[in-house]
Amino acid sequence: MVIAIDGPAASGKGTLARRIAARFGCAHLDTGQLYRAVGMAVLRADKDPADAAFAALAARALKPDDAILADPELRSDGAAQAASKVAAVPEVRRALLDFQRSFAARPPGGAAGAVLDGRDIGTVVCPDADAKLYVTASVEVRAQRRLKELRERGIPAIPDAVLEDMKARDARDSQRAVAPLKPAGDAFVLDTSAMTADEAFEAAVAFIASATGSAAAR
Ligand code: C5P
Repeated sequence: MVIAIDGPAASGKGTLARRIAARFGCAHLDTGQLYRAVGMAVLRADKDPADAAFAALAARALKPDDAILADPELRSDGAAQAASKVAAVPEVRRALLDFQRSFAARPPGGAAGAVLDGRDIGTVVCPDADAKLYVTASVEVRAQRRLKELRERGIPAIPDAVLEDMKARDARDSQRAVAPLKPAGDAFVLDTSAMTADEAFEAAVAFIASATGSAAAR
């Protein structure tokens, strides 16, 4: 069983994906971490994330057990912005495609299936996924959530700057030529603007259970 979860930054798809994986006994891959790792590798080499040749090299060198994938710095805004720049490079996307498809085809730990979350899972990486969700929320709500998360982690943040960063990343992700952020035609669109995390989870479980006939929903 393969479950694809896509959506913009801070839509809540990461938390949702982890909970869904646990409920359905699946392995989970946060594909944003792969792009963040490539972005960080480029920054650490003092290169520009828009340098296509170097970014492609870094993407091809990334291995599933790479220590950088567990680096807490991947969660920083610097890594996020660099990720969205390397993500617009077609060779980077091509290099990461095999990584993601292997995970979906052979989930680690003998899991019953795989949950992948990202921007293009339902449209490009796993177009034949058994269930596709597109999780979204208004940009203002997402910026508020991001602000709360940053402050909880003790990171000082300016509301207007967080909102502007969110808009800039949305624009880069949805307007790029390759694999832009958009819902797959057969995705269940879940707008969580006015939902709690628990409400979103229950709605997602109900959809996946009906799409896959899984009994794990109960
Ligand atoms: O999901 P997360 O915010 O960690 O993703 C960081 C960046 O990686 C996104 O802004 C996007 O540009 C890129 N990304 C992508 N395709 C994916 C996952 C992430 O282009 N499947």
